Amino acid sequence: MDSAVLTRAVRFFQPFFARECFIDFYGGEPLLAFAEIRQTVEQIEGLSKKRGIKAHYSLTTNGSLLNDDILDFLEGREFSILLSFDGLAQDVSRKKGSFDFLVSVIPKILERPRISLETNSVFTSETISYLSRSIELISRLGVRKIGVGFGHRRPWTSSSLLRQKKEMALVRKYFRSHYQKITDVPWADLGEQLEKAIHCCAAGLNKMALAADGTLWGCFLFPQYFNGSKKIREAQKYCFGDVDTFIENHHTIYPRTMENYAALRMDNFSTPDGLCAMCDEIEECWVCPLAAALTGRKIGRIPALVCGGAKMWRKEKRRLLEQFKKPNQPDKDAAANSLGGFPSQRELRRCVDNLRPPAVGIFP
Ligand code: SF4
Ligand code: SF4
Repeated sequence: MDSAVLTRAVRFFQPFFARECFIDFYGGEPLLAFAEIRQTVEQIEGLSKKRGIKAHYSLTTNGSLLNDDILDFLEGREFSILLSFDGLAQDVSRKKGSFDFLVSVIPKILERPRISLETNSVFTSETISYLSRSIELISRLGVRKIGVGFGHRRPWTSSSLLRQKKEMALVRKYFRSHYQKITDVPWADLGEQLEKAIHCCAAGLNKMALAADGTLWGCFLFPQYFNGSKKIREAQKYCFGDVDTFIENHHTIYPRTMENYAALRMDNFSTPDGLCAMCDEIEECWVCPLAAALTGRKIGRIPALVCGGAKMWRKEKRRLLEQFKKPNQPDKDAAANSLGGFPSQRELRRCVDNLRPPAVGIFP
C-alpha cells in the first residue's frame, strides 16, 4: 500500500471517527506491512488526541511473523489479536509446521495482559474430527476467547455432518465438565445475543475499508471477494472508488453506492429452499452475505449448507446455555456420541509437544 494514500485516507476519515472507534488490520497477512501499520497507528494517535478520540486496534493474523518487537508494539497500543489457528487441524488445513510455531507463540501473547487474544479456527468436512480436541487444546493453552467457523469450499457429506454433530456434543461435554459458570466458557460469542430483528449488513454504514490497491469499500470482505474475479460490474456496485476520487466526490459517490449496500438484508436473501423472508428463524438469523458468497458465488444467495450451519450453530449455543442453567440434566447427545473421553493431561502435553494430526488417527 502506498503510504501517501494511507496518510490521505486517515486525514480525510479521521473527522468522521466516533468518540470510540475501531481500526482493524486485515490481510492477506497484514504483518507483511508492519511498517505501514505502525505509521497508521501513530498518525491516528496524533490526530485523535486533539479530538479526544479513543481508538481501539485489532489485527487479524496467521501469527507467522509475530516476534518480540512486534508484540512490544501491539502491547503498547493494547491491540486485540485475532489469530487464525485451527488447533490440531493446523498442519492439515494450513502451512505444514505452523502448528508448533503457533503453540509456542500463544503463551508469549498471553504473557502480555494488555493484548487481548482471540483464536479463530475453521473446520472443514475433512478436518471436522479435530474439532473437540482442538478446542480442548486451545482452552488448555489458556486462550479465553475461541472462535469457530466451518468452511464450505468442499462439500459436507452425510458422514462428515454426523461427525460434526458428535464433535459439538463432545465440545459441550468438555465445557460442562471444566467450567462452573457459563461466563467462564471460552467460546468467543457465546454471551452475544442477537436482538430479534431483520438484520442487515453494516458495510459502509458505520465502517469503511481501505484495500491494498487504494480503493474504498464498505467492509474488508468485499475487495477479498472481488479480488481477481471477472464480476467487474458487480464490483463497481460496491466500490466507492479510489481514495482521491472519493475525497473529491464523496457527496455523490457515498449515497449512490450505499443504495447497493442497503439491499444486503436478510429479508432480501434466499436459499435453494426459498426466500429467507418466509423463514421462521429470520429474526434470529444473521448470515454474512459475503462469507456466504465466497462459498455460493452469488451475493444474497445463501447455500443450503451455510443456512443449515447457521441453524445448527444457534441450536448448539442454546443447548450449551440450557445445560449450564440445568447442570444436572444429562446431555443425551454427548453420552450417546462419546468417542472414548478426552485426552488426559499427559496425552495433551504430548499433543502440544509433538502431535502431528495424522498421528492421532482421528480422521474419519
Ligand atoms: S455482514 Fe459481512 S460483509 Fe457485512 S459488514 Fe459484516 S462482515 Fe462485512
Ligand atoms: S435460517 Fe436459513 S432460511 Fe432462515 S433466515 Fe437464516 S439463512 Fe435464511
